[in-house]
Formats: sequence, structure tokens, C-alpha cells
Amino acid sequence: MQQTPSKLEVWHSPSADDLGEDHIEFLHRLKVPTWITVEGKDSSRTRAIVTLLHGNEPSGLKAVHTILKQQLLPATNLIIIVASVNTALYPPILSHRFLPWEEDFNRCFNAPCNTNQRHLAADIASRLTGAAPEAIVDTHNTSSHSEPFAVAVDDHCVTQQIAQIFTSKLVVIDQHLGTLIEKANSVSPVVTVEFGGLMDPNADRLAFESLVSFVTKRHLFNTEPVPMQILHHPLRLEIDESSEIHYSSSVQDDADLTIVNTIDQLNFQTVKAGTNIGWLGRSGLDGMRAVNARGDDLMHEYFHDVSGFLTTKQELTIFMATTDPYIARKDCLLYFTPTTP
Ligand SMILES: [Zn+2]
Repeated sequence: MQQTPSKLEVWHSPSADDLGEDHIEFLHRLKVPTWITVEGKDSSRTRAIVTLLHGNEPSGLKAVHTILKQQLLPATNLIIIVASVNTALYPPILSHRFLPWEEDFNRCFNAPCNTNQRHLAADIASRLTGAAPEAIVDTHNTSSHSEPFAVAVDDHCVTQQIAQIFTSKLVVIDQHLGTLIEKANSVSPVVTVEFGGLMDPNADRLAFESLVSFVTKRHLFNTEPVPMQILHHPLRLEIDESSEIHYSSSVQDDADLTIVNTIDQLNFQTVKAGTNIGWLGRSGLDGMRAVNARGDDLMHEYFHDVSGFLTTKQELTIFMATTDPYIARKDCLLYFTPTTP
């Protein structure tokens, strides 16, 4: 069984001819997780783009390939980390978030450092610490339809100034999940950008245009941030990994939970109290949790069982709702924040 390499390869100033014609050829040239450097106009400063922490999320990969191919001159020195190259190359190409026998790589940036993936995460973190970029952006696609949004661990002025190059929505997480942004934030301001669904051409377009702006803007921090929609203290709606969950427009009789298959249309929408988002199985709300950053389960504060429906108990803003049962079981069904009075 193939294992993710424990260290990054390093590639300084790749020439356009060496990059392949498209992002697929680019992956074949890279072969393994790679740290790419490009010299910029102002070599006293550095910015960094991390892409492909998840091997099936191509918008950032396509954008950095085009940026490198066009030999765009960055405003500052530029680091591009193409992370899960081996995962993306595992057939069929760009189809695995992570290899089935490994972990979600964006949950490996915490202790312990006891696997190849976790050594690779530590290598990325220590190289970023050494390079001390003035800004880091970590590019992703959502597993279902969503407007683009940024995720960070704080809403400091510099965080907002980076985030708004990409989107007007910022989610501030306080959960400790082992993500890159938790690790890197002590070094440099860092945001994750979710450009939209992984098949969405708008996500590819936004990734390219906004990353060009991130790379070429002379200064990121010399203007006041404009107001953004900022969502604090999100909770995660989780279900036991062993549960049988379906996404459908009608109830699946044997399932523990059937979620309405258009739930992703609610992403970043305000959902009123009393909204049915799915059907519960025989065991009702058992096996479901609504978890805050402290690990408290507040399920019964926000959801209830109304005649077999999974129903919201108060007004919520929902986001990162997936329609992928695998993600729902392995990670979570959705995030939400209560619409506080
Ligand atoms: Zn991702």
C-alpha cells in the first residue's frame, strides 16, 4: 500500500516548459508533495499558497499551474506548496480526498507526529515557520454546492484583509481539529479559502483571478478591511461514523438518518426555527451531536425530533452542509451558528 511521503521535495523557479500542459500533467511532473519557490519583485517579503491538502479539490491546483505556466512575476517571493500529490495521482486521478488507508491530511497538523502524513505536516509547518510569509492562503473546494468563503482561527484585521481578496464571508473556527490554519497561525496570518464545489467552473475562475490578485498585489495590508459577513463559534452537527445516512428527497426506510438532498442550497442561508432538514430513523436523535469548541453536545438546544423529522429548534445560519454521506459520517453533516438576537 502506497504511503504519503514524509518530506517535501523542493523545486526552485520551475520553467514554463517543465510544468506540463495542464494541471494533470503538472501532477505527473511533481509526483510527490512539493515546495515550489518563485522569486518576486520585492525579495524581502514572501507569500505562500498551500493547495491540494485534499487530493480531490482541484481549483487551487489549476490556478497555481496557470500562474506558474504564465511565469507571472509575483509582487513578493512566492512559495507554492502542492501537498497531496501522491493522493491526487492515485487512480482515478483527483478522486480521493485522502487515501483510504490514511488520515484526512488536514487533520494531521497536531500531535502526535507518528505517521508519514504527520511527518509531512510537520515538515510543511517548520518550513513555513522558517520562511515566515506575510500571508498564507490554503485553497480548497467544498464537497457540495456552496458560495465561496474563508475560514480562519481569528478575525484580526490582517486576517480579514487577506480573506477579502477571495470572498466576503469569513468563518472563525475555534475547534481544535488539527488543520493547517491552527498550526500556521502562530507564524503568519493564514486563511483557508473554499472556492466552491469541486466541479464548479465558477470556483476555478474565482481561484485563478483571486490568487493572481493575492500574488501580484504590491501590498495586502495598506487599506482598511471592508465589512464582511463573519460567523463566530460554529458548531458541528455530527453523526456516529457507523450510522447509515442517505441524501434523498424522500425518506429511506432503513436509514438512521435521511437528509434532504438539497440541503446544500441552505449554505449561508438563515434557516427558521421549525425547518425540517431530514427524517430520523428508529433511534431518533441518538448517535447525533451538535458539538461546540469545548466539545459540549448541545444537540437538544438546536434540534429536535418532531414526528420523525429532524427539525431546527431555533433560527440558524447553516454552512458547509455536505450532500456526501462519506464526508457526513467521517467529518460532519454541516456547521451552523445560531442567529443570536
Ligand atoms: Zn478541502
